[in-house]
Amino acid sequence: MTSTPYDVAIVGAGPAGATCAWYLAKQDVRVLLLDKAKFPRDKFCGDAVIPRAQRHLERMGVLQQMIEAGECLFTTSGGFVSPSGIECLSDSTENPKGTPLSVKRIIMDERIVRAAQLAGADLVEEAAVDKVRFDDRSGTWTAEAGSRRFTARTLVLADGAHSKLARSLGIVQGSPSAICSRSFIEGGTHAFETDGICYMERALLPGYAAIFRHPNDELNFCTYIIPGGKAVPSDLKAMHHDLLDKNAVLRRHLGSGYEIEPMKGAWLRLGGVPKSYADHLLIIGDAAGHIDPLTGEGIQFAMEGAEKAAETLIEAFRVGRFDEQFLSAYQDKWHKEFGHKFGLAEKASQLMARYPELVDSMAKVANERDDEFFFAWADIMMGEAPWSAFLRPKLAIPMAAAAIRELWAQRFSPLRRRIAASGA
Ligand SMILES: Cc1cc2nc3c(=O)[nH]c(=O)nc-3n(C[C@H](O)[C@H](O)[C@H](O)COP(=O)(O)OP(=O)(O)OC[C@H]3O[C@@H](n4cnc5c(N)ncnc54)[C@H](O)[C@@H]3O)c2cc1C
Repeated sequence: MTSTPYDVAIVGAGPAGATCAWYLAKQDVRVLLLDKAKFPRDKFCGDAVIPRAQRHLERMGVLQQMIEAGECLFTTSGGFVSPSGIECLSDSTENPKGTPLSVKRIIMDERIVRAAQLAGADLVEEAAVDKVRFDDRSGTWTAEAGSRRFTARTLVLADGAHSKLARSLGIVQGSPSAICSRSFIEGGTHAFETDGICYMERALLPGYAAIFRHPNDELNFCTYIIPGGKAVPSDLKAMHHDLLDKNAVLRRHLGSGYEIEPMKGAWLRLGGVPKSYADHLLIIGDAAGHIDPLTGEGIQFAMEGAEKAAETLIEAFRVGRFDEQFLSAYQDKWHKEFGHKFGLAEKASQLMARYPELVDSMAKVANERDDEFFFAWADIMMGEAPWSAFLRPKLAIPMAAAAIRELWAQRFSPLRRRIAASGA
C-alpha cells in the first residue's frame, strides 16, 4: 500500500509490463510493477526470441547476461518442413540480420524484471489484481489485489492474453482465438540435430508445430492452433500428440525413446485490438493482442509496444495530458511500428490454409536457391524486411513460378486426369 500515487502502475510483469517499466524507470518516472506470480515464474511459450526482441534485451543488458550465463542458444541451423514433408533446412550463421535465439521464459522473464527493478521500478509480487477503478476527482487509478490497494496517475494493463482487466472495463472485447501447446523434451534422449524447425502439417495449417533447442540440449515442442484452418482450439491435445505419433519427418528427427513432459497450453490473442487506450490508461502486450496472426509470436511486439507506451506516457507527463484523445497516439505508434502488418499476416495465414501447396512450393524453391534467397525470405518472416520485399524480382519470380508449378502438379493436374478418365 502506498499513500503517494505512483506516476504509472503496470499490472503484469511479463516481457510487456517489465520492459515498459524499464523504459519508464530509465526516464525517472515513478513506476510500480505488479504481478500475481513470484519470479522466477514459468510461461508456456515456444521460447523463440527473434532479433527485434533481442535489441530490447540488449538495451536492458539482459541479452549480455543470458549469453554470459550460457542460458540462451542462437539457432544457427534449421528451417521448416512443408506439408508434403519436404525439408527446407539451412545454416543461418551467416545471416547478417541475425537469427532467433531460444531461452527458457522462466529465465528471460525474471532477468527483464530484475533489469526493471535495477532501473528504479518498484516490484510487488504475489499481487493478483482483481479490480481496477478510476477516480475522476483525484485523477488516479486504484488497483485492488485482495485487501491491498495501489494508486497511480496512469495505469498500464499488461496482464496477458485473457486481458481480464481490460475486458472488465469493456475496452477489450472477446476471448483469445488461438492456442498453443508446450512440452519440454529431455536433453540427451532425442536425436534432433538442428537448432529449430517448424513443421507445417497439413491438418494444422495455418498453425504449425515447432521445435527449438535449448543450450542444455532440451527441446521445446510447441503446437500452434491458429484460426482459419480445420483445427480448432479444442483439438490442441489431439494435434499435439498426433504430430508426435504420426508425422513421419518429426518422428525421424526426434528418434525413438525420447522423454517428453506432459503437454501444457495457453491462449494467444492475435492481430491487435481496435482500441488500446482510455483516459489515464494504456494496454500492452498480449492483453492488446500484439501477436502475429501468421506466426503466433509476440515477444518482440510485447517489447516494441512497451517502448511505444513508455514514450507516450513520458510525453503525457511532459505536457500534463492523460486524456483518451492524447493517449490515442500510442495506438498510432504501435500500428505504425508493427500493427499495420497484422492484416496482411492474417490473409497470408488464410491463403496457406487454403493452398498448402504454396508452402510445398516455398520449400522446393528455397532448396533450389542459395542461402541468400533463404535469408531474404527469413528476414521478411522475422520482420527484419517489409512484406513488400516479397515483390522484389529475385524473390517474386522464382516463388511465383514454383507456386504455379506446385498448384498445377498437386491440384489441377490430378483433377484434369480424373476428368479425362471419367470422360473416357
Ligand atoms: C504456448 C505458446 C508459445 C508461444 N511461443 C512464442 C515464441 O516462440 N516466440 C514468441 O515471440 N512468442 C511466443 N508466444 C507468445 C508470447 O508468449 C507472448 O506474446 C508474450 O509472453 C507476451 O508477453 P506479455 O508480457 O504481454 O504477457 P505474459 O508473458 O503472459 O505476462 C503477463 C503477466 O501478467 C501477470 N498477470 C496476469 N493477470 C494478472 C493479474 N490479474 N494481476 C497481476 N498480474 C497478472 C502474469 O502472471 C504474467 O506474469 C507463445 C505463446 C504461447 C501461449
